[in-house]
Amino acid sequence: MERTLCIIKPDAIRKKVEGNIIQMILDAGFKIIALKLIRLTNERAMSFYEIHKDKPFFKGLINFMTSGPVIVIALSKENAVEDFRNLIGATDPLKANNGTIRKLFATDVQENAVHGSDSIENGIREVSFFFDESEIID
Ligand code: ATP
Ligand code: MG
Repeated sequence: MERTLCIIKPDAIRKKVEGNIIQMILDAGFKIIALKLIRLTNERAMSFYEIHKDKPFFKGLINFMTSGPVIVIALSKENAVEDFRNLIGATDPLKANNGTIRKLFATDVQENAVHGSDSIENGIREVSFFFDESEIID
């Protein structure tokens, strides 16, 4: 089974759609193997999104991701990484397919409701960024 990390971002929690998003994830056949509600510090958010540190949107992204609580969810499924990226849709909700989480719940390209790991290696790395192996119920 492959692992991927989902983050329900602060905009989705402000809109009170985290329940809808979790239901869509379950209906799509993913198994929740760990879950918690947390507030990202500046340092943790910068470390998680380090790959984007030179991008023009980095500062805005960190401000946004620390603007309220997030729900981090470790997911397990066959082909989890690709299937989850298909379920969430394109980064920019204007380009996201109908029926995807971002099409339904994102505000714009920054406040786009959810994060999903972008490779099998990053799925493993990002799950262990937030969860000890002892916290995972597989
Ligand atoms: P994520 O990594 O959160 O799943 P993604 O892989 O679809 O999203 P990335 O290119 O990794 O997109 O960008 C990380 C996040 O940075 C985006 O989800 C979004 O919140 C923000 N972001 C990306 N591009 C832009 C942009 N052009 N303007 C503002 N914010 C952006
Ligand atoms: Mg990404």
